[in-house]
Amino acid sequence: MKVDYIIVGLGLAGLAFAEQLREHGKTFVVFEDNSQTSSNVAGGMYNPVILKRFTPVWNAVSQLELAMPFYKKIEEKFESQYDYPIEIYRSFKSIEEQNNWFATCDHPALSEFMIPKVIPNENEAVNAPFGFGKLQHTGRIYTKKLLNDYKAFLRETNSIREISFDYDDLVFTDKIVKYQDITVSKIVFCEGFGLKQNPFFNYLPMQEAKGELITIKAPNLKIDYLLKSAVFVLPLGDDLYKVGATFNWKDKSLEPSEEGKNELVEKLKTVINVPYEIINQTAGIRPTVKDRRPLVGVHPQYKSLAILNGLGTRGVMIAPTAAKMLYEFLEENKEIDKEYCINRFEK
Ligand SMILES: Cc1cc2nc3c(=O)[nH]c(=O)nc-3n(C[C@H](O)[C@H](O)[C@H](O)COP(=O)(O)OP(=O)(O)OC[C@H]3O[C@@H](n4cnc5c(N)ncnc54)[C@H](O)[C@@H]3O)c2cc1C
Repeated sequence: MKVDYIIVGLGLAGLAFAEQLREHGKTFVVFEDNSQTSSNVAGGMYNPVILKRFTPVWNAVSQLELAMPFYKKIEEKFESQYDYPIEIYRSFKSIEEQNNWFATCDHPALSEFMIPKVIPNENEAVNAPFGFGKLQHTGRIYTKKLLNDYKAFLRETNSIREISFDYDDLVFTDKIVKYQDITVSKIVFCEGFGLKQNPFFNYLPMQEAKGELITIKAPNLKIDYLLKSAVFVLPLGDDLYKVGATFNWKDKSLEPSEEGKNELVEKLKTVINVPYEIINQTAGIRPTVKDRRPLVGVHPQYKSLAILNGLGTRGVMIAPTAAKMLYEFLEENKEIDKEYCINRFEK
C-alpha cells in the first residue's frame, strides 16, 4: 500500500491535519490506539481572554478566525452540530476585579468580545455578590462527538487503523519511508502526551498537566451561560453541567482520581449553593510545553518525520492554525512561525 501521509493520533491535532490533507487531495492513513484522552474529555471551550487576569490569549483572535470556519465546514460535511456558541459569565471576586475588567474592555483585540458592564447576579443558586463580566462570541466545540464522527468517516473510507503505531517498524530509504506494509512520503506525529514514547521527538520539553472534570446533575441551578468562577460550570442541557478543571503536574495517570473529584467539589461549594449529583468523572493529560507554545516542524535529521503537538490548554483554537502551518511548510515550503516551530529547541 502506498500513501502520501501517515498520521499518528486522532485527537484535535490529528483531525486538523487530516482535514488539510483531504482538502488538498492527499492520501493518508491514521493510526489511533486510544492511549490518550485529552481531546475526548476536553471542555472544548474557545475564548480569546485569559479569565484569571483579563489579558488576551496568545494569538487567539487570528486562531479563531481560522478555527470557526474550520469547524463549520466539518459540521456541513457531516450534517451535524459541533459548535455550541455560549456566553461566558466571569464572576468578580472584588470591586478591584470589576475595575480591571473595564480597563481590559478597551483592548482593541478584545473589545468585540468583552461587554463593558457589570452584570448583576439574579440567580440565587449562584454565589456572585460582585456580579459578572460577560464575554460574547465564545463557545464550545463538542470534541467527543466530533472525533467519534470523524473516526466513523475514516472507517468508511478505510483510512484508519485502530492500533498502536510501533516506532521500531520504521525503515528509512532515500525519500521514502516504509512502515510495515505501507510506503509513505511523510509521517506526522500527533500523539499528544504520547509524545513521551516517540524516540524521534521525545527530546522536546513537554510539561504535561493532567486535568479532571466532573459532570453533575443540578435541577435547581438553571443557568444558560458558561459560569467561570473558582471552577467553570458548563451547561450541557437536561440539567447536566460539566465542572472543571483541575491542573496536576505530578500525576501522569489517565484515571480519574478521588483527589481530583474532591478538589472540584470543594471549589464548587464556593460557586453554587444548590444540591447536585455527580454523574460522571473524566481525566486527560494536556500536552503542554514548557514555554506554552505549540510544537510544529520536522525532525532535524529525518526530514520525512513531522510533528504537530503542544496544543496545551487550547487545542480547539490552535489546532487548525498549527495544522495549516505544518501543511504549508511540508508541501509549499512556507516558513513556520517562529513561536510554533520546534527549531526553538535544540536536539
Ligand atoms: C480536562 C481537560 C480540559 C480541557 N479543556 C479544554 C478546553 O476547554 N478548550 C480547549 O481548547 N482545550 C482544552 N483542553 C486541552 C485539549 O484537550 C488539548 O489541547 C488537545 O486535546 C490536544 O490534542 P492532541 O490531538 O494534540 O492530543 P490528544 O487529544 O492527546 O490526542 C493524541 C492521540 O494520539 C493517540 N496516540 C498516541 N500515541 C499513539 C500511538 N503510538 N499509536 C496510535 N495512536 C497514538 C492517542 O490515543 C490520542 O487519541 C483540555 C484538556 C483537558 C485534559
